[in-house]
Amino acid sequence: MPKALRILHVASEMVPLVKTGGLADVAGALPLALKRQGHDARVVIPAYRRAIAEADKRGISWGPVPMTIEVGGIDHQVGVGTVDIDGLTVHLIACNELFDREGIYGPSPSNDYDDNARRFAVFCKAALALPGYLRWMPHVIHAHDWQAGLIPALLQRGYNQVLPATRTVFSIHNVAYQGTFWHFDMKLTGLDWGLFNPMHVEHYGKLNLLKAGIVFADRVVAVSRRYAEEIQMPEFAYGLDAVIKGHSYKLSGITNGIDAGVWNPATDTHLPAKFDKKKLAGKKVCKDKLRQECGLVRDNDACLVAVVSRLVEQKGIDLLIEAVGPYILSGRMQLVVLGSGDLAIEARLSQLQARHPGWVYVWYGYNDPLAHRVIAGADAFAMPSRYEPCGLTQMYSMRYGTLPIVRYTGGLADTVVDVASGHGNGFTFGPIDLGHFSSVLDRALGLYQHFPEDWKKAQLRGMTADFSWDHVADEYIALYESISFAE
Ligand code: ADP
Repeated sequence: MPKALRILHVASEMVPLVKTGGLADVAGALPLALKRQGHDARVVIPAYRRAIAEADKRGISWGPVPMTIEVGGIDHQVGVGTVDIDGLTVHLIACNELFDREGIYGPSPSNDYDDNARRFAVFCKAALALPGYLRWMPHVIHAHDWQAGLIPALLQRGYNQVLPATRTVFSIHNVAYQGTFWHFDMKLTGLDWGLFNPMHVEHYGKLNLLKAGIVFADRVVAVSRRYAEEIQMPEFAYGLDAVIKGHSYKLSGITNGIDAGVWNPATDTHLPAKFDKKKLAGKKVCKDKLRQECGLVRDNDACLVAVVSRLVEQKGIDLLIEAVGPYILSGRMQLVVLGSGDLAIEARLSQLQARHPGWVYVWYGYNDPLAHRVIAGADAFAMPSRYEPCGLTQMYSMRYGTLPIVRYTGGLADTVVDVASGHGNGFTFGPIDLGHFSSVLDRALGLYQHFPEDWKKAQLRGMTADFSWDHVADEYIALYESISFAE
């Protein structure tokens, strides 16, 4: 019987406490899957105001004494909250002057807080002090993204003498977000100034916390197999390609799973009608109700294409806006978009909606129940992403019999197989330009209109695929075992 591992996940967000992107889904689901396999996994996140409000509802308890965490000559009193989420122990690092704010990374999605280097240095140091505080020594600390990038560096440089045998895994969820700060913030890290060089934590004159994680971790994981390849290339790596290539000996790609309990059309309480692959009738009801809810014209056979996404350049929404006009005007396609982000993209979407009343509907903001209804009610789901580390929504869509139309990149390439192969579950295209995107739309709308039997076969293939975390957790366990048993 293999030994049960103790694994501490250090992440900046996790569902259901706080979420701005896919990282939160992973930090919520992977530890639970590890627990189901008999391992002792826990999570630690910052106690943002929003996270405390959610944790309060679930009965958070606070440790009797705070920890004192020194960063850049200032002592911070840090409380440790603990809450049980579906059997998973989650710790929250509370420090009111740093985390009790309305925003997560900044006052608005496009603005960062000025003291983020300090906020996440305190978080990382507190996370490293946690095992001693709890008398619970992890075999592995799994740090996620730049906010936890200092963890591998501090541990490797002997910041915490209590954890000499603990190994680190560092996950890159999106290499575009690197946590770069001016060089004076080096004094906040607790690392020796001697490490401020291009081989370690400096990148073009700045402190780079993602790089710190990559350089010092025992293993580095990218959130899909293809993304692990792509981030070694200049066009995807936002300047870190050489660094990542240089550490590729310890890099692997593990494609994320999805929470198959939350995203299950047969049990989804957000839907007006449930369905599964044997009884697809409920999906038709979902489409009808969605069109009604969105004020879309209902008496036609148009293919309902959906987007649920952050509205940022990465997601290629600009290309979608440019491409869809002729398809909508010819009555072949309707569009529902749920998302928020870049104001310029939002303005263009509003223009599109104004130009095509009853055929385009856009809802700005974050709305989880609506995301479920949109994904269930749509026929197809568009993700023309410039890059996509893993992407979750294409997998949710497939489970709901909604065919993804995606760019062949990152996790989209790992999970979507083009129908042209004869055993596909969606549509893929390569170069990110209007011609290629229009031609994939043509193919998708053509199959929908003229070959409903083939469309249904593709739907069923998607609905049958196993994207569950249990399967993915096995790959992580093998990785953890390979480092924690070797030494
Ligand atoms: P990313 O992490 O780049 O934002 P992913 O596809 O990996 O993209 O994850 C996005 C997650 O956020 C999914 O769970 C998706 O359903 C959710 N999401 C994105 N935008 C919205 C929104 N406006 N309302 C509800 N959920 C959203």
